[in-house]
Amino acid sequence: MVEPIFDLQFRLILIGDSTVGKSCLLKCFTDGKFAELSDPTVGVDFFARLIEVDDGTRIKLQLWDTAGQERFRSITRSYYKNSVGALLVYDICNRASFDHIPVWMSEARRQIEPHRPVFVLVGCKVDLAENGGQREVPKEEAKLFAQKHGIFHVETSAKYGWSVEDAFRKVTEEIYNRVQSGEYKVEDGWDGIKTGFVRQKGLDINLVEAEPTKSSCC
Ligand code: GDP
Ligand code: MG
Repeated sequence: MVEPIFDLQFRLILIGDSTVGKSCLLKCFTDGKFAELSDPTVGVDFFARLIEVDDGTRIKLQLWDTAGQERFRSITRSYYKNSVGALLVYDICNRASFDHIPVWMSEARRQIEPHRPVFVLVGCKVDLAENGGQREVPKEEAKLFAQKHGIFHVETSAKYGWSVEDAFRKVTEEIYNRVQSGEYKVEDGWDGIKTGFVRQKGLDINLVEAEPTKSSCC
């Protein structure tokens, strides 16, 4: 079997209150699966997936899930430090989780400095609102918040795979644009962005093993 080669690797983190749906979002994106009973994340959980942007560049996403520490907002500096992007995750049926987003955002900014992270605001569990559940965060309000901060906003359902791909694609494309414009550079000692392979005399040599691409979700 031929291993897919990737050109770039971006490291992304998911942050937000516990139980908002971060681990399910990751499972859906990387595995196409949804777990009704999702175990609280224990230890450092790490996922990966390869995606291709419009010009054919293959990007391996290294995706890090918080390890239950989000309950105490005691996520360590090392978790943030090597990231180039962050998904700010809340539950559309949980007002408090949205109200805490500015705290998560400023913490990420502070920890990721001097790099400027790309954010995407993700409202999870949109299927609940469509099935008689109580929406507590109006879509318009979240959109306005995102506009004010110049970031993307998307509402997802990991249960049905709605817009999950979109959330990760948006953040990936924005990071890639910043690489193209020269704003982001591959730096020694920083794992936020890495090159994926070296080219030697016409041979492509993988430095890190790549995962197969999955196109469908839940
Ligand atoms: P985390 O603590 O942020 O990682 O949250 P989890 O991903 O573990 O999810 C917490 C709970 O929400 C679990 O019971 C999931 O089954 C449920 N959940 C997560 N995403 C969705 C979704 O899109 N729709 C619905 N209906 N439930 C979800
Ligand atoms: Mg979790």
